[in-house]
Amino acid sequence: MSEPERPGRLVVVAGPTAVGKGTVAAYIREHHPQVWLSVSATTRPPRPGEIDGVHYFFVDDAEFDRMVDDGELLEHAVVHGRASYGTPRAPVEAAIAAGRLPLLEIDLQGARQVRETAPDALFVFLAPPSWDELVDRLVGRGTETEEERAARLETAKVELAAQREFDVTIVNDDVERAAAELVSLMESQAR
Ligand code: 5GP
Repeated sequence: MSEPERPGRLVVVAGPTAVGKGTVAAYIREHHPQVWLSVSATTRPPRPGEIDGVHYFFVDDAEFDRMVDDGELLEHAVVHGRASYGTPRAPVEAAIAAGRLPLLEIDLQGARQVRETAPDALFVFLAPPSWDELVDRLVGRGTETEEERAARLETAKVELAAQREFDVTIVNDDVERAAAELVSLMESQAR
C-alpha cells in the first residue's frame, strides 16, 4: 500500500511593487519544478511572450466577475487601480491535498485575504535590499508611464511598511539566491 499523501503547506509570497516578485516566481517556475506555482486570473492584457494558462489566465471583466460571484477565487484584488487579479481556489486546494509545494505570488491585499481564510499558511515578505534600490528598479523597468510609476512608488511606500505582518522576510539581492532561499524554506515547511 502506498503512503497517504501528506498535505503541503501553502506559502504566500508578497512584497512591494517592483521588488522582483514576478522575476523570482518566473525563476522558480523555470528552475524548481518541485514547486507548484499558482496561475492567477487577471483582466489585464497579456504582455509580449505571456501565455494564457501559463503566466496568467487572461479573462475579461465579465468572466472575472463571474469567478468572484461563483466563489471560484481564493482571494482577489484590484492592483495599481487598474486591473483585477485573483487566485483560482480549486487548483490550490488540489495542490495542497496532493502534497505539492504550493506557492502564491500575489499582492499585499491578496495576502491579507489569504491570512483570513488560510491562517496556517506561511507568509513570506520579499524585500528590496534598500529603498534606493527599489526606486531604481521601479524607474529602470521602463514599462510604465510617468503617472503609473508615481502610483507604483506610492503603493511601494505603503507596502514596505507591511513587512511586520509577515512570518519571514527574504531580501531579493539576487534572483537566483532569493529563489533558492524561498524554495529551501518551502521544503523545510512541508508537512
Ligand atoms: P503584473 O501585472 O506585473 O504581472 O502583476 C502586478 C501585480 O499583481 C504583482 O504585484 C503581483 O504580485 C500581483 N498579482 C498577480 N497575481 C495576483 C493574484 O492572483 N492576486 C493578487 N491579489 N495579486 C496578484
